[in-house]
Amino acid sequence: MKTSIATVSISGDLREKLAAIAAAGFDGVEIFENDFLTFDGSPAEVGRMVRDHGLEITLFQPFRDFEGMPEPQRTSAMDRAERKFDLMAELGTDLMLVCSNVSPLALGGIDRAAADIRELGERAAKRSLRIGYEALAWGRHISDHRDAWEVVRRADHPNAGLILDSFHTLARKIDVGSIRAIPGDKIFIVQLADAPLIDMDLLYWSRHFRNMPGEGDLPVTEFMRAVAATGYDGPLSLEIFNDQFRGGSPRSIAVDGRRSLIYLMDQVARAEPAISIDVPEIPDRVEAQGIEFVEFAANEQEAQELGTLFEAMGFAAVARHRNKEVTLYRQGAVNLVVNTEKEGFAHSSYLVHGTSAYAIGLKVADATATVERARALGADIFEQRHGPGELAIPAIRGVGGGVLYFVDGKTEGVWEIEFEPTGSDAGDSAFRSIDHVAQTMNYEEMLTWILFYTSIFQVHKSPMVDVVDPAGLVRSQVIENASGSLRLTLNGAENRKTLAGTFIAETFGSSVQHIAFRTGDIFKTARRLRDRGFKPLVISPNYFDDIAARFGLEGGFVETLRDLNILYDRDGHGEFFQFYSGNFGEAFFFEIVERRGGYRGYGAANAPFRIAAQRRMLRPRGMPRATRP
Ligand code: MG
Ligand code: MG
Repeated sequence: MKTSIATVSISGDLREKLAAIAAAGFDGVEIFENDFLTFDGSPAEVGRMVRDHGLEITLFQPFRDFEGMPEPQRTSAMDRAERKFDLMAELGTDLMLVCSNVSPLALGGIDRAAADIRELGERAAKRSLRIGYEALAWGRHISDHRDAWEVVRRADHPNAGLILDSFHTLARKIDVGSIRAIPGDKIFIVQLADAPLIDMDLLYWSRHFRNMPGEGDLPVTEFMRAVAATGYDGPLSLEIFNDQFRGGSPRSIAVDGRRSLIYLMDQVARAEPAISIDVPEIPDRVEAQGIEFVEFAANEQEAQELGTLFEAMGFAAVARHRNKEVTLYRQGAVNLVVNTEKEGFAHSSYLVHGTSAYAIGLKVADATATVERARALGADIFEQRHGPGELAIPAIRGVGGGVLYFVDGKTEGVWEIEFEPTGSDAGDSAFRSIDHVAQTMNYEEMLTWILFYTSIFQVHKSPMVDVVDPAGLVRSQVIENASGSLRLTLNGAENRKTLAGTFIAETFGSSVQHIAFRTGDIFKTARRLRDRGFKPLVISPNYFDDIAARFGLEGGFVETLRDLNILYDRDGHGEFFQFYSGNFGEAFFFEIVERRGGYRGYGAANAPFRIAAQRRMLRPRGMPRATRP
């Protein structure tokens, strides 16, 4: 599999783009004419720069408004092409993209277009170059790959072929099965892009909202399965116009791009076992069986405060690490670990983010296979020196800089092997499991997180919902598996004034904003926690009047909810109850939930009330942030 990406997909100047593309492991680049025009070097220098990075130029693009023109425009289009051929020779690339004509002057007519493509192919052949013809979804007469293929077929020239672009085909909902009838050797390059489903003008949608395969809603895998059936084995080239990417980090967008292609072809190879596809064989997407633990980094004082809060929630400090300053708190099957070491990754994480949940341990069937898949998809492996008698638990770096550990049958004895019991019982057993973990990031980084999780794990993403914070919008998207054993809610903050944005600013990008525990009886749990001195987040009394009316709830029941600060929601499947802790410092908080029946959501409708309550608790504006040692 040869991978390529258009320079237009990435931010930065040409130098930065090429460095990021090469570092991410691509084989080639499409040079977008504008990137080249705004660069202060000659075409030969650009060509050299590309090759110095170990890349090849897979395509020069775009050449516009060419076919089907009347005279004198036809002659001048041919002359224009000759000048681009000069440029391509200097750059050192042999393939030019000709996109279908959008000019109002274009005359139309398949045979006229074919004659022009044939002549251009002939001119290209004289210089040992090739041209590829692409149907733009908004082309004046040719807007469908089936018609573009008919033009190329009739042009019947070895140096003239077809270019397929998943966006143009899928945006118009053209049957991808039609691709299977095209000979693979007449497809000169395949461009790939996904996009969120938005009903808007095709050109605007394409220029601003394309994203990496797997990040959007288009059936790019189906498209690529059809391409694979033709026997095409040329470059797979990402051509992504996206406003966020243009402002994003070149390095991270390039890594996402390469990850998206590996993930895409992995899915294609699995779906088309009869077709030989040149793609590395990697372990299948991983089923996370649950969250084994969450680990916090803290200093000693905050570790104590955290321990007090855990105990108020019914946890007990059941064990201490034999060699490290690490305490295990447990309740039922929920493990919370507090690490106050003065060296190692937890400590560096503490220095950067303050007290935070920097690591999550996931239960999987095979931790080694999990890491192998993650590594193949470009994730960074996390390794830390471990002492004698300590287990090496396989781990990777998460997107936000945290750590994801993978615990399987080989390492599940970690609590007995590395830890010494304190003699305390395992606390209360009101919490059955971790229901979900909420991670917060800048909105621009959300797609990176989504692709990371969906490509490594067997999870699906729910539609994005908007949560209104008085200071702006927060975009929320759920990543979960079918059994509910892994549920993550991702919150993308559009600005720093929202509560989620403040969290990112105050904790320098720390990602776990809240952890939700699941209980079987929320009323009993809320009362028990109250008796233990737990202070729930106080919800406005008006909220309860509202839900009483909205859901037709009975008076006594609503009074109990109000008394215990329990928020309520209901969907077609069941009911949901939730209450929160206050903020711990300015960072994270905890949530306790009960799901009744088959309720599938996360109480999104209640989020504005939770945010308003938390805002009331926040320090007044302008006060300095608590100093940390
Ligand atoms: Mg294209
Ligand atoms: Mg929640």
